[in-house]
Amino acid sequence: MKFTRLLFLCAAVAAAAENDAPRRLAARALGETPIWNDLHALCDGIGGRPTGSAASERAIAWAAKTFRQAGLTSVSVEPFKMPQLWLPGTAEASAISPAQFPLRLAAAPFTPSTQGTIEAPVVDAGEGTEQDFARLGARAKAAIVLVRSKEMKTFDDLFAEYLRNNSLMAAAKSSGAAALLLQSTRPRGLLYRHPMSMDGSLAPVPTAIVHREQAERLGRLTLSGEVRVRLNLQNQTGGEYQSQNVVAEIRGREKPEEVVLIGAHLDSWDLGTGAEDNGVNVAMILDIARGFQELGIVPRRTIRFVLFSGEEQGMWGSRRYVERHHAELDKFVATVTFDTGSGRLSGFYLNGREDLRGEVNSALAPLGGFNSSEHLIDAMDGTDNFDFLLSGVPNLVGIQDPIPYLPDYHAESDTFDRVNQREQKITSAIASVLVWGLAESPGRLKRQSRQEVERLLIDTKLDQQMKAFGQWAEFESGKRGLFQ
Ligand SMILES: [Zn+2]
Repeated sequence: MKFTRLLFLCAAVAAAAENDAPRRLAARALGETPIWNDLHALCDGIGGRPTGSAASERAIAWAAKTFRQAGLTSVSVEPFKMPQLWLPGTAEASAISPAQFPLRLAAAPFTPSTQGTIEAPVVDAGEGTEQDFARLGARAKAAIVLVRSKEMKTFDDLFAEYLRNNSLMAAAKSSGAAALLLQSTRPRGLLYRHPMSMDGSLAPVPTAIVHREQAERLGRLTLSGEVRVRLNLQNQTGGEYQSQNVVAEIRGREKPEEVVLIGAHLDSWDLGTGAEDNGVNVAMILDIARGFQELGIVPRRTIRFVLFSGEEQGMWGSRRYVERHHAELDKFVATVTFDTGSGRLSGFYLNGREDLRGEVNSALAPLGGFNSSEHLIDAMDGTDNFDFLLSGVPNLVGIQDPIPYLPDYHAESDTFDRVNQREQKITSAIASVLVWGLAESPGRLKRQSRQEVERLLIDTKLDQQMKAFGQWAEFESGKRGLFQ
């Protein structure tokens, strides 16, 4: 099946005779390129790279150097302000009664440290709803509260995990809990980083993700008597600091002021090495830029390649990029974001803009209509397209098979070997042709007004999601979503 897909693409590319550029770009992307050397350098050589860490600084310098070594002459590192530093430090715990055994856990980003090592009884708060905490009453006070989860199998499950954060934290805070242990949603002891706040604030209660099966054992033990746990979470927290986005471009030959942006986030969480999320797409974007340079292809409009930092902390790199570049947003043709690993690409999220469908299909026409029928109108909140969407810029996000991405999402197991190299080469060919086509097309879509964006958010029901995530007020007040 997969092999047929590759053959089909090769045949379609070979048949595209009317303009040589897409054929050459796709053929190059499908052939031998340094993409895997780059991914190896980033993931194995640098590793997990939370924004604000030394590894993140190394990754930024490495990405700028790699663009330059690819021959791009216009490469810059654009500083921006991050609102709140959070880096993991010590996370140690053990059960001390009725049985003694070490617990495996990972501190949740944007939660505070414990006051040194604490020792407290464990209480089981079920799924951690307001009613669950009400049921516990005074027993939660100064306790280590265990919160259960069902196993994560789909994007909807993952989404539900994020959606409960705000109410969970509010309930935990008012209960007076000393700390929260959130049962891992992944079986067989797998740990991951699960941020408890995305708006630059620090959540109120020390929190860690705990080994799923160990959480089950703790829960069973609480049924027959007191369970005591010792816990030490020490995170590094601080206020504002500076990070950087890495930007490179191929200047357009006719309309250099008009921009097609292709982006992916460079930062990752640290337990794994950020291969599926999102090193593989960073390596792809570097390689697409290298391809244009190597083949000497100069499109009508400028293609800008952007590697964002601060995505995992709340999409700060792309948000600040939009603020910094607001004066030129009218000239943006479209942005294209990849952030779902290396699974099979079936089309693009149109992010509420039906008028993008034709643009994408025309751009991909040299590939023989490949994937053209599988775009979705859905609008995405959760990656670097979001602030472009809020500011009326046409924006696309790749739709990819969630396998291999989802099981390793933010986890220890997100490593180089998880990447589906064959599918990623195909995605690279499609993305190369897409950005070329968008940069070459005779016309372009208009930027939306604030009213049009508001209508889009309501029509796609993204407003409801934004309300749940606490983003709607920022849009309403004009803090987020920039217009002339
Ligand atoms: Zn990501």
